[in-house]
Amino acid sequence: MTIKEKIESLREELNKHNYNYYVLDNATISDYEFDIKLKELEKLEEEHPEFFDENSPTQRVGGQITKNFNTITHKNRMYSLDNSYSKEDLLDWEKRIQKMLGTTEVEYTCELKYDGASINLTFENGKFVRAVTRGDGVQGDEVTTNIRTIKSIPLVISEDFVSNFEMRGEIILPLEGFNLMNEERVANGEEPYRNPRNTASGSLKLQDSGEVAKRPLDCLLYQVVTNERKYKTHFESLEAARKAGFKVPHTIELAKSIEEVLEFVNRWDEKRHDLPYETDGVVIKVNSLEQQDELGYTSKSPRWAIAYKFKAEQVSTILNEITYQVGRTGAITPVANLEPVHLAGTIVKRASLHNSDQIEKLDVRVGDTVYVEKGGEIIPKIMGVDLSMRPSDSEPTRYATHCPECGTELVRTDGDAKHYCPNEFGCAPQITGRIQHYISRKAMDIDGLGAETVDLLYKEGLIENYADLYELTVDQIIPLERMAEKSAQNMVDGIVKSKEIAFEKVLFALGIRFVGETVAKKLAKHFKSIDNLINADFDTLINVDEIGEKIAESVINFSKDEKNLATISRLKSYGVQLEISQEELENQSTKLEGKIIVVSGVFHQMSRNELKKAIEDNGGKVSSSISKKTSFIVAGDNMGPSKLTKAQDLGVSIITEQDFINMIN
Ligand code: AMP
Ligand code: ZN
Repeated sequence: MTIKEKIESLREELNKHNYNYYVLDNATISDYEFDIKLKELEKLEEEHPEFFDENSPTQRVGGQITKNFNTITHKNRMYSLDNSYSKEDLLDWEKRIQKMLGTTEVEYTCELKYDGASINLTFENGKFVRAVTRGDGVQGDEVTTNIRTIKSIPLVISEDFVSNFEMRGEIILPLEGFNLMNEERVANGEEPYRNPRNTASGSLKLQDSGEVAKRPLDCLLYQVVTNERKYKTHFESLEAARKAGFKVPHTIELAKSIEEVLEFVNRWDEKRHDLPYETDGVVIKVNSLEQQDELGYTSKSPRWAIAYKFKAEQVSTILNEITYQVGRTGAITPVANLEPVHLAGTIVKRASLHNSDQIEKLDVRVGDTVYVEKGGEIIPKIMGVDLSMRPSDSEPTRYATHCPECGTELVRTDGDAKHYCPNEFGCAPQITGRIQHYISRKAMDIDGLGAETVDLLYKEGLIENYADLYELTVDQIIPLERMAEKSAQNMVDGIVKSKEIAFEKVLFALGIRFVGETVAKKLAKHFKSIDNLINADFDTLINVDEIGEKIAESVINFSKDEKNLATISRLKSYGVQLEISQEELENQSTKLEGKIIVVSGVFHQMSRNELKKAIEDNGGKVSSSISKKTSFIVAGDNMGPSKLTKAQDLGVSIITEQDFINMIN
């Protein structure tokens, strides 16, 4: 086998596995084996850049940054859909089209209306070339690099399908993945995302495709657009698309009459809550493509299709009490405690009221009968009040003025929707919340210690901040509820082991407001030690790439607090990593600050990844495409010919691997 054949066979094999896993939901290889093969392919592609292919499975990890998305005019306009809300609406629609077609012989396809962001995928000669958002229907944004990271979308399709076509579909965020993303955000002290639809649609426009790759997005396809007259019906074209590798949901069905359509609608109105993703209705389409052509379009939508919207499920129930939750950062969230009621397949007892503005806007009061809805949001929402049911002695809600946990007066700063309890060091949920964050998996990852144990240790007066953890002894722990010698020892061992955790994670673990994982990494890299960070002033902070005023202010507030400083000096004395390690330090400089560098070709003294890391460690930025902004290109053997021409056209200089090594040493 030649190298080229080897590369092609690996790509084909990996594509097949991706398809089995992401489209058929039926893994045929372990993750481990998949990784080995992917690495093998990566290595071969790195050694032979002449065989580069943007549709290789190695290109799905993302990493490319798009600053401005190109506007592209759709070859075929992306229309909206007419809506219907009742049986009568559907029967009217049927009458209209039967009249236009001059026949009662009309068959329909019923599909669910997937709730996400529409996308148009262009394929040429069986290869994925472009993805564009719907935009205003005439023009959209090109988001190709982001879409390529979605693994259920085939990049190369099997031969017996049409070869030049557009595939339309919906980018969605399945509920499970959405919930996981939110758990992570909450753990990082960030506001959870409101609903899967907006999050999916926001993901398409992220500048860093590497970030998109991390999100569990999926793509459900619902229309083939092509001039090749291979299929007679819409249903047939979708089935063929599914065979060719696209994820076309198996929920699609044919219906011979509006009666059968209604049967589908009613069935899914019930069953939709069991789906792994959200749907807000059904789309009914005339099945024959010839009849579709005959019916054509109005100025806004196809005449051959109509959406049927499910009613957002709403129930009314009594609001018994408004309570207030205190988060680890002190943020207050008002919660409506409801008379339990069935809604969309679950029993609802609580609903979020978001903040005081929301309560004021709705004028909700204890004792009111309220409308609760489960729309796109995971947590049910209160939509309004049934004023006819309001008790005569009802009083307007007075928002909490004091913290329900510690009694401190709440504060609210300008521009903040939330109230905060400022009693950072005396308010139980804030104290334990910070320690729980400190020990969490993404922070200090302390084994043998869980959230409940933190509560217990705090209640017993053994800990009050995370530095106290390092003074805990086995003898102190054993007498606690459900603790044995072994578990106590495990806990202490876990705490000792956390002293090895790298500075960037420690910085995240400290729980400085707005300093999430990524920001912590940036700050650690830039300032190199907690002392440098603490001594940095506002201007220095906001001059760091991607650090804004909000973060800078929060860091300053943290740093000026005597208590925080005392805790940090204790952590230092226990041996917790509060600066980046010597080893990492030795490899870092600012020699390439402000430089945007492209790497291309095969290298001998270091691997491509080592080269990229070296660029970043020395303050430079790696970019994958050449533009006017490129400072220079580090070229190895066999630099891609198109890159070479582009570099020459733009007058970007090209240096060798050795030049680069000399430059940083
Ligand atoms: P609307 O935005 O209400 O005009 O509805 C049209 C949108 O519904 C399209 O742009 C698609 O993004 C979306 N949609 C979701 N599922 C389907 C489907 N099965 N067929 C057609 N469009 C769909
Ligand atoms: Zn409090």
